[in-house]
Amino acid sequence: MSGCLFCDIVAREKPARIVFEDERCVAFEDIRPHAPVHLLLVPRKHISSLNEDLSAEKELLGHLLVAAAKLAKENGIDGTGYRITINTNAGAGQTIFHLHVHILGGRTMR
Ligand code: AMP
Ligand code: ZN
Repeated sequence: MSGCLFCDIVAREKPARIVFEDERCVAFEDIRPHAPVHLLLVPRKHISSLNEDLSAEKELLGHLLVAAAKLAKENGIDGTGYRITINTNAGAGQTIFHLHVHILGGRTMR
């Protein structure tokens, strides 16, 4: 979608530290990390948030969670623990309206 930062990152039109990609999703380092490991995992397809009708996207949503767990393991935070967050709408802190999974770990979460 034009004007969407995460679509531009997926298309390599804006820079990001990409750490993983496959046919359905791309992961990169958060530019303002809240933890020693803070990755964002986004679908290649533009989906604005979980508020969309995603009844036809169950496989993609499952794929994102499986990929998130794999990334946690690869980044060595599976044992100590990690947090997966999907902020939905402004009141929850969503600032970029392209669905993204935060993967946070490497410190004790309060
Ligand atoms: P949210 O507040 O849930 O919408 O999360 C958006 C996240 O995107 C924030 O944690 C930002 O730090 C992060 N972010 C914003 N711009 C960039 C960028 N250019 N590259 C990587 N992460 C970004
Ligand atoms: Zn987008």
